[in-house]
Amino acid sequence: MPEIRQLDKHVADLIAAGEVVERPASVAKELLENAMDAGASAIVVEIERGGLTYLRVTDNGCGIAPDQLPVAFLRHATSKLRTAADLAAIGTLGFRGEALAAISAVSRVDILSRTAGAEAGAALHLEGGVAGEVRPSGCPEGTTIVVRDLFYNTPARMKFMKKDSAEGTAVAGIVTHLALSHPEISFKLLRDGAEVLHTPGDGRLQSAVYAALGRDFALHLLPIHGSGDAVSVEGFVTEPLHGHGTRARQIFFVNGRFVKSQLLSAALEEAYRNQIMKGKFPGCVLHITVPAGQVDVNVHPAKTVVKFAADKPVFDAVYYTVLDVLNAQNKPAQQEKKGASFYQTMTAAEFREKTASSDKPPFNVSPAATVRPGTPAPPPNRGRTLLVRDVAPQPRQPFTATTVSDGKEVTWHITPPPAPVEKEPKPVQQTIEPEREAPWRIVGEVLKTYIICEDSHSSVWLIDKHAAHERIRFDALKANTQPLMAQPLLTPLAVDLDGDDYDAALGSLDTLAQFGFVCEDFGGGTVLVREIPADIRPEDAAATVEELSHKLALGRADPAGARDELYHTMACKSAIKAGMDTSPAEMAALVEKVQSGAIQYCPHGRPVKYRLTQYEIEKLFKRA
Ligand code: ADP
Ligand code: MG
Repeated sequence: MPEIRQLDKHVADLIAAGEVVERPASVAKELLENAMDAGASAIVVEIERGGLTYLRVTDNGCGIAPDQLPVAFLRHATSKLRTAADLAAIGTLGFRGEALAAISAVSRVDILSRTAGAEAGAALHLEGGVAGEVRPSGCPEGTTIVVRDLFYNTPARMKFMKKDSAEGTAVAGIVTHLALSHPEISFKLLRDGAEVLHTPGDGRLQSAVYAALGRDFALHLLPIHGSGDAVSVEGFVTEPLHGHGTRARQIFFVNGRFVKSQLLSAALEEAYRNQIMKGKFPGCVLHITVPAGQVDVNVHPAKTVVKFAADKPVFDAVYYTVLDVLNAQNKPAQQEKKGASFYQTMTAAEFREKTASSDKPPFNVSPAATVRPGTPAPPPNRGRTLLVRDVAPQPRQPFTATTVSDGKEVTWHITPPPAPVEKEPKPVQQTIEPEREAPWRIVGEVLKTYIICEDSHSSVWLIDKHAAHERIRFDALKANTQPLMAQPLLTPLAVDLDGDDYDAALGSLDTLAQFGFVCEDFGGGTVLVREIPADIRPEDAAATVEELSHKLALGRADPAGARDELYHTMACKSAIKAGMDTSPAEMAALVEKVQSGAIQYCPHGRPVKYRLTQYEIEKLFKRA
C-alpha cells in the first residue's frame, strides 16, 4: 500500500504557483494590481521575450519597509486582509496573499523598494522562492520588481508557453485593460525596449482610449452615459460608419474588471441592428456598474467570465443607452456634424448603394472593349477563334494613410508602383466549338450590380457581377500553385491587428506571402505590409490583411478548412464589387464565363445567374 505523505514545502509552493502563475501575463496582472493597491499614480512595465526572460514592474506607490520585504513573499502573507470577515467583504477581488510567493517560486526575483519619506530603500533577491539577505539600496520611492527566467525550474510549465510574441501580446492586453479601467493612473509598456503604450493618467477615459487603442479607433467614437435603477453604463461606442471586422474591439468592464461577455456584446450589437454594415461589428469601451451582490466576476486572468444575478436589467441598460445615442445622431441639428447620421435614416442596403455610387472606386479598365451595351448580338461563331483579353490592371492611385507610432501621428504616402510589365494583357486563345450557342447579347447593367443579357432562345438572364467574378477568382486561386504576384509599396502600410490575429499573422508570414502580402512585424500589434498582390486594390489592402489574419487565427484548429476561408477573402477582395463601375470588356468576359456554365454559385453558395423566360415575362404583363 502506498505511504501517504505530506508534500514538502517546495513542491506545495510549485503547485500553488501553477494556479496563480500561468504565463507572463498573469505575473504582470498580479504585479500591476499590487502596484495599484499601493496607490501608485504611474506604473511602468518592461518585458523582454514576451516577459519570459524579463518582466519588470516599477511603481511610485507606498513602498514596502525593509523588514517587511521577506514577509511579502511568504505564502498567505498580505497587508490587505486579516480576518475571515475581511475575506467575505473583498473576497471577489482576489486578495489572497499568494501572488508574490507563487511568482518567486517559479522564477528569479529582485525587489527594490523604498517607503515614502524613508532615507534609503532596500533590496532582496529570491531564487525559486528562497530569499537571500535584505540589503540597503538606493532607489526612488515606490517599488520595482524584476522577474527573470519565469518557469526556469518547472520545464513542464514552460512547454505550455506560446511564442514570445503571443506571450508579449497577452501582457500588452493586460496592461491595456488595466489602463482603460484606471485612466487616473499613467501606464507605460516597453516591449523589447520599444514603448508600445503610454497613457497620460489624467483621469479621462478618452485619453486612455486614445493612448491605448490608437487614434484611428479613438477618433470615431461616440460618448455614452446612462444609468437606471441599479445599473449604470458609461464609456464610448463606435460610430456606425466605422464598424470593425471583428469583435476584438468590444471591451467591457464590470465594476472595474475587464470581462468577456456574450450578453454584453449581444446588447451592444442589438442597438446597432440596421445601423451598421453587414459583417461589421461595433467596438466599444464600456464601464458597467452593478451592485456588488448582483455580479460574480471570476477574476482568473484567463477566464474573465462574468455572471449577473439578473441578465435583463443589464442587457436593457446597455441596449437602451447605446440605442439612445445612436438615435440622437439622426437629429437634424447634428446632421451636418456627423456623417453617420445621414445613413441612419436608410436601411443597410440603401446605404451601401448610396456610398458605393458616391464614392467612385478606382476600378476602371482601359476601354479595350469590343462589345457595348445595347450592341446587337454578333453573328453566331462558326469554329472561329476569339481573342479574349484579360482584364487590364488599372493604374493605381497614390494615397495616404495615418498611423500612430510612439504616440505621434505618422502619415504614410503610399505611391503604388506601376503594374509590372508581365501583367500586360496577354491574349488567351480560346476555341469556340461550332455547335455552341450564340453568345448572349449584353443589354446592360442595372443597379451597378446586375448584368442583363438575352440569349438566342428568348430568355433573359440576370447576372450578379460580384458573385460571378468572386467565383472566377476563387477557382483561379485554388487552381494556382504559384505565390501570387506581389507589387512592392514605396512606403509600407502599417496595419494594426488585434491580439490573436496579430500572433496568427506573425506565425503565418509565409502563407501571407503566398497570397502576395509580404509583411513583417512592426511590434505592438502592428504589421508592416511591404508588398501587396497585384490584383488587390490598395485601399482594400489593410482590410484584406486584417481579414486574412483573423481567419488564420480562427483556423488554427483546422488548417485545411482555413485555406478555403483565405481563398474566400482573396476572391472577395479582388473581385469587382457591386456598386462599382464595370467596363464593357469586363462585363463581356464575365458573361462569357457564366454562359459557358463553368460557374454556377459564388463561393458562399449564392447563385450567380437567374433566368427569366419569355413566358414568365409575358405572365407578368398578363399577356400569357
Ligand atoms: P496580496 O496582494 O494578495 O496581498 P501579494 O503576494 O500580491 O498578496 O503581496 C503581498 C503583500 O506585499 C501585499 O499585501 C502588500 O502589502 C505587499 N506588496 C506587494 N507588492 C507591493 C507594491 N508594489 N507596493 C507596495 N506593497 C506591495
Ligand atoms: Mg497581490
